[in-house]
Amino acid sequence: MREQLPVERYDMLVGGRWTGSRTERTFDSHDPYTGETWARVPRSSADDVADAVEAAEVAFQGEWRSMTASKRGLLLCRFADLLAEEAENLARLETRDNGKLISEMRMQLNYMPQWFRYFGGLADKIEGRVIPIDKPGVFNYTLEEPLGVIAAITPWNSPLMLATWKLAPALAAGNTVVWKPSEYSSVSALAFGRLFEKAGFPDGVVNIVTGFGHEIGEALVKHPKVAKVAFTGGDASGRKVYGGAAEGLKKVTLELGGKSANIVFADAKMDSAVPGIVSGIFAASGQTCIAGSRALVQRSVYDEVVERLVGFARTARIGDPLLEDTQVGPITTEPQRKKVLDYIDIAKSEGATCLLGGGVPEGNGWFVQPTIFGDVSPQMRIAQEEVFGPVLSIIPFEDEDDAVRIANDTIFGLAAGVWTQDVGRALRLPKRLVAGTVWVNMYRATSPLSPFGGMKQSGFGRENGQTAIREYLQEKSVWIDMENSIPAPFVQR
Ligand code: NAD
Repeated sequence: MREQLPVERYDMLVGGRWTGSRTERTFDSHDPYTGETWARVPRSSADDVADAVEAAEVAFQGEWRSMTASKRGLLLCRFADLLAEEAENLARLETRDNGKLISEMRMQLNYMPQWFRYFGGLADKIEGRVIPIDKPGVFNYTLEEPLGVIAAITPWNSPLMLATWKLAPALAAGNTVVWKPSEYSSVSALAFGRLFEKAGFPDGVVNIVTGFGHEIGEALVKHPKVAKVAFTGGDASGRKVYGGAAEGLKKVTLELGGKSANIVFADAKMDSAVPGIVSGIFAASGQTCIAGSRALVQRSVYDEVVERLVGFARTARIGDPLLEDTQVGPITTEPQRKKVLDYIDIAKSEGATCLLGGGVPEGNGWFVQPTIFGDVSPQMRIAQEEVFGPVLSIIPFEDEDDAVRIANDTIFGLAAGVWTQDVGRALRLPKRLVAGTVWVNMYRATSPLSPFGGMKQSGFGRENGQTAIREYLQEKSVWIDMENSIPAPFVQR
């Protein structure tokens, strides 16, 4: 049993000030393990968003704009050091807020400083080019410039990690940011915000507004002084964000959902493939965009793999996410748990065979049992739609062509896993799969060094790696006549 502690109150960060909403309204954050209110945060309005964007715009035009790129990089590295010191506290806040395992949140928090160091290091390596221009007496070069105010909108499943993927490159490139975390995981964001202040970022460079997507998300996306929207979330919200940004012809990065296939060939090392598939779906209770929610298993080993998957998943320890040895925690929100249970009913009604779980365990908290469906056919809704919960669909396939066809036959294209000992196949499959990330004989690895993003309706734009910083820059071409001559005033030069 958890000790009942008083509800904690948090303020948000606007222009260097810690403040409540202008409306003085707040909303509660619930602990998914107990279902109880544990924190209270400001419920912002469109006016609060306007204040934050204005503060970010003023900061963009001020000291931040004239700061050298090397100094910006140092600030990011200083932030990384502070983040490393605070990692344990922040991980615990995340677990209280979103119910994900402390072991997973701690891993993320301990790794996160690497993003700020990587992009801090890149800040003063943003270089323009001198173009060997094809016009005599003219010097032509390019400048790489920041965009301005970035609206960063993030979901609840890995709140700080997914914000880091936006904030680190955006700041390294010299932009300012207004960040709206999910209404289900605002607390860790606000604690994280304190570190920008401590690291010495000028006021207004990072602003954090808390509130609901339908109340302030749209206002933020449509604000005329926002230059770009960097969004991670579900595809339904992604469509609205894209539409809202289109009105102002804004740049957009969308990181959306997935229905990723983990493909097991008969020649795979089953001792790696089976735990790999289990961790791909049940770690994080399936609440990860890259969840390997479809296991495609070659027919000749189907029975063996199914038996081993069910046997292994059956041993998963469900419980308090703050305990070190828990392996499956609750679902972050009550509506999300209902959605997962609805999908389980849909799968049953479509004729899939429930081999494990399929309900809720006894006791408190917003849990769903690790659930496995066998004999799933590729067109069933459970094989096509994102569930975002601990539900695995197992689909048999005949040969490589069949596996590729099934794997690619969804609207999504975020990630895929391939399990094989055939080196030719390990090289062939990544080319044939339509997915932004392909792992071979491994799953669920990400790094600040390697680009990440979706294909098809899993989104566009890339986070991480050197590609990411380009998403926050624009190129300017500068022309200089070195001879001060205007040869033919009425003809294009
Ligand atoms: P969500 O789309 O409901 O919310 C995401 C964020 O968008 C929240 O901050 C929310 O308040 C905001 N929002 C909602 N409606 C909005 C609107 N009309 N305008 C502006 N902002 C709005 O997603 P969620 O339920 O918080 O997260 C789960 C989803 O996120 C899943 O679909 C998952 O696959 C996806 N996800 C994708 C990635 C990735 O990198 N591709 C990573 C993690 C999660």
